Amino acid sequence: MNESHDYDCLIIGGGLAGLTCGLACLEAGLSCAVVSSGMSALHFSSGSIDLLGYNADRTLATSPVDALPGFIEKNPDHPYARCGAETIMEAMAFFGRELEAQSAPMYANGRENHFHITAMGTLKPTFLSPASVFTREIRAAFEKRPAIAILDVKGFRDFHPGLAAANLRKNKLFADCPITCGEIELPGQTPAAGGARDMRSVDVARILDATTNLEAVAGAITAAAGRADIVALPAFLGLNRYQEILAGLRRATGRLIYEIPTLPPSILGMRLDQALKSRFAALGGVFIARDTVDAGRIEDNQVISVHTTGQKDDIRAACYVLASGSFFSKGLVSRYDRMFEPVFDCRLDTPPDGRSLSGAAFLSPESHAFIRAGVITDGQLNPQTADGRTIANLFCAGAVLAGYNPVIEGCGGGVAIATGYAAAKAIRARLHPPQPTATAGPQ
Ligand SMILES: Cc1cc2nc3c(=O)[nH]c(=O)nc-3n(C[C@H](O)[C@H](O)[C@H](O)COP(=O)(O)OP(=O)(O)OC[C@H]3O[C@@H](n4cnc5c(N)ncnc54)[C@H](O)[C@@H]3O)c2cc1C
Repeated sequence: MNESHDYDCLIIGGGLAGLTCGLACLEAGLSCAVVSSGMSALHFSSGSIDLLGYNADRTLATSPVDALPGFIEKNPDHPYARCGAETIMEAMAFFGRELEAQSAPMYANGRENHFHITAMGTLKPTFLSPASVFTREIRAAFEKRPAIAILDVKGFRDFHPGLAAANLRKNKLFADCPITCGEIELPGQTPAAGGARDMRSVDVARILDATTNLEAVAGAITAAAGRADIVALPAFLGLNRYQEILAGLRRATGRLIYEIPTLPPSILGMRLDQALKSRFAALGGVFIARDTVDAGRIEDNQVISVHTTGQKDDIRAACYVLASGSFFSKGLVSRYDRMFEPVFDCRLDTPPDGRSLSGAAFLSPESHAFIRAGVITDGQLNPQTADGRTIANLFCAGAVLAGYNPVIEGCGGGVAIATGYAAAKAIRARLHPPQPTATAGPQ
């Protein structure tokens, strides 16, 4: 680190992109801090990482690894095109290793997508899933056409086993599986007045984290599951003790218990967030939470420092990463008259006019124009100022970027990880350019 800088790299935004970038910087020996104002999109996501669910022609992508080169060729302005297929796969492998090191492994089906069951009982293609949602063992168990019990906890508001079961039965893969539904009560749970469903996933997770009577929970599951070999529960089996809780319940019930991603707040996403932040801290990263970068000072096409709402002094770094997310996280702002990026006022790709932002159908398969809006970058992920100057030591990553549609393409998590990792690679190359190898003198 240079004496005039506080850090080699300062990252604005501690979501999936910012944390992946931070981990890659730290692993490369760079000092790194993250400033993050609020909860990231992980708290609302399924907790699975979509790399590429659909090809450019909207057909299902069986193997994202094989599909990526063609996809990039057809979408030259896509963030994946800024990274290249090789770096994207490097990034996914890196991400997997970092989570392994934090004892929070994710399941990957080699080069191919796998399908996880949604709270609606539909199947969704994805590339990485938490081990409580999908593993080789769960896949093998499903292949035997087992009896499945979909269970819920009394008073939980965000899951309807009957709906999930009805949709699952329509799928030919599950046509031969007897599927039953049931409900359990947690030990010490006081039933809500009038049978109200007033608990969210975090409430159930907290009760389970605190329970000293896992045997009673296991007993309730065994009774409700009947003859089922597999028990599916909404993803609420604890936040801090989830591995112990899941293993304990599997052991005590003799059933293969697994979790179905639920509506937000997402326990699976929160566990991922927790694992990434713990890993970041373990590697020596500085995480400044609940603070907002509200301005950046740019001189001679370089960011010199940033100002935050919570700190007296500006923060100075050699390089900066804008990983502040999309409209959802206020990394982009939309007003009646314009859209803008609030920290550096970077140049955006936006829909041509306000009218194109609205469409007749809310749930149109064409999606909405605002989703592709974002910061335009060059091949190094460097953005431009509003008047068109490239900012050489600022890199952009994740949902703040223009040129992709995570919903239609099934690539939200993948873009965050790939561009976060690619930004770290570019920073490392900028701060420590490869030295020319000493050439031997004439023989
Ligand atoms: C509801 C929802 C569900 C999703 N489900 C999935 C899924 O199942 N699978 C999948 O692969 N993808 C999913 N995605 C997409 C994927 O989760 C996101 O694209 C990805 O997590 C974005 O990560 P990010 O780090 O770029 O941004 P974010 O997660 O949005 O993080 C940005 C962070 O920056 C902070 N921030 C913003 N401005 C500032 C500032 N000025 N100063 C300091 N901090 C700032 C924000 O508070 C936030 O914490 C989902 C997205 C949403 C919104």
